[in-house]
Amino acid sequence: MSRKNIVAVVGRPNVGKSTLFNALAGSRIAIVQDTPGVTRDRIYQDVEWLNHSFTLIDTGGIEPDSKDIILSQMREQAQIAIDTADVILFMVDVKQGLTDSDSKVADMLRRSGKPVVLCVNKVDSYSRDSLDVYEFYNLGIGEPFPISAVNKLGIGDLLEEVVSHFSKDSTNDEEDDTTKIAIIGKPNVGKSSIINKLIGENRLIVSDIAGTTRDAIDTDVKYNGKKYTFIDTAGLRRKSKVKDELEHYMIVRTVGAVERADVAILVINAEDGVTEQDAKIAGIAHESGKAVIIAVNKWDLIEKDNHSVKEFTKNIRNTLAFMNYAEIIFISAQTGQRLVKLYEMIDIVSENHALRVSTGVLNEIMTQAVVMQQPPSDKGKILKLYYITQASVKPPTFVIFVNDKKLMHFSYTRYIENQIREAFGFKGTPLRFIIRERK
Ligand code: GDP
Ligand code: GDP
Repeated sequence: MSRKNIVAVVGRPNVGKSTLFNALAGSRIAIVQDTPGVTRDRIYQDVEWLNHSFTLIDTGGIEPDSKDIILSQMREQAQIAIDTADVILFMVDVKQGLTDSDSKVADMLRRSGKPVVLCVNKVDSYSRDSLDVYEFYNLGIGEPFPISAVNKLGIGDLLEEVVSHFSKDSTNDEEDDTTKIAIIGKPNVGKSSIINKLIGENRLIVSDIAGTTRDAIDTDVKYNGKKYTFIDTAGLRRKSKVKDELEHYMIVRTVGAVERADVAILVINAEDGVTEQDAKIAGIAHESGKAVIIAVNKWDLIEKDNHSVKEFTKNIRNTLAFMNYAEIIFISAQTGQRLVKLYEMIDIVSENHALRVSTGVLNEIMTQAVVMQQPPSDKGKILKLYYITQASVKPPTFVIFVNDKKLMHFSYTRYIENQIREAFGFKGTPLRFIIRERK
């Protein structure tokens, strides 16, 4: 499966970005349960539309109170969109009309060479507002698509235009023999130090080809004859004094990096333990379905005894209970402790992430599991599990056919998952289950 496309929404405050988000939220298919214990703002959203699935990111920060700040903030949004998105959705407001900051931002987007789709919101009635839509041709970024986010009008045409810009060569990914690793984590945990140390003399080239801004933070490395690309989320440091805004950018950047990766390395500062911010970032990795390694860095600073690793591991497992599949490693970017091991771990988890298990063996395991622990029942009706098959990889996704979906309790799915993990390992990768009814 190819990686998910990223669509970033750029637009002034109040043009209706959140409203569009909400309108699209309904189309989300809930294969995975919402990540427990991780609250998050609606900054990013997975959207399924026809045969496409993509991640929508709202680059809008908090609402500034002066005109100057609006423009500088929009520039910043636009830059993030240019850095991370495959398609940029530029949103304007027909009621406010064309503003100076819209024009300036449109220039910037046009120069980036990224596909930009111009969306004119609040066109609630076609008769009166539609003439005003033509004004936006003046932005020089192509045809304006009129929508009414509130009334959910025009959204189909808009999405059709958006997905038409997705690259068609999904085979590209399969042939790509480099493992892509996103190094994620809150500021100052040591992300850059780890990348620098991992790279060492293994660096192939630093890709900062003009025009591909987002590659500027990617580093290609050859180690033991294998190719790796490290994606650094610390690479571009945003200057902002507002704490919420910093966090917003951190989340947007993390989503962008994780989507492009096979493996996410969540870096935690050993001195801090697992914090709320760590959990938020972990939630992003979890929902993306990527392989995950939790690297506890600055291990050199901890006064250790026999219990330190055990205690720390317990703490991580408790706080980040939703990603118990993640591998944990204790490292030091300073001394280089266990960084070679980290390379080995990357290999293992990325292999597991792409592992395919034969249908025959899977069904043997499921049959045995059912014998060992009786499936749940309700009012005399017993859950029957007919058949299991692996539908896809990255992450490994299984379809189980049953007689009645309502009887397939979450805990029983978890039990089946554990049996599969016991048989095949699947260390470091999440597994997904889709339950289907068959009469
Ligand atoms: P954001 O700041 O860009 O996220 O904008 P919001 O989504 O919060 O919307 C700002 C205001 O515009 C809210 O009062 C919305 O109800 C309103 N709004 C959003 N979409 C539409 C629309 O299609 N038509 C009209 N008339 N109002 C809208
Ligand atoms: P980033 O913001 O996550 O990229 O963090 P940096 O790589 O910039 O590191 C932040 C600070 O922590 C720097 O002063 C590093 O020298 C220091 N640091 C990073 N890794 C380690 C480590 O393993 N041990 C110690 N003692 N310091 C570290």
